[in-house]
Amino acid sequence: MKCVICKQGERAPGLATVTLQRDETVVIVRGVPADICQDCGDITWKKRLHGRFTLRPKKL
Ligand SMILES: [Zn+2]
Repeated sequence: MKCVICKQGERAPGLATVTLQRDETVVIVRGVPADICQDCGDITWKKRLHGRFTLRPKKL
């Protein structure tokens, strides 16, 4: 699949790392399925992250 960003690279399935941030809290999720451009490194998520990785920080 051709990359829509650089229009040169080829996207290949792989695993990426997502960094979610809300206020002072940062959550890192590894091994998220994505299509990654071999040329520019742009990432297209296989699934919409909204909802699946909803960050709900607890108040201390
Ligand atoms: Zn690209």
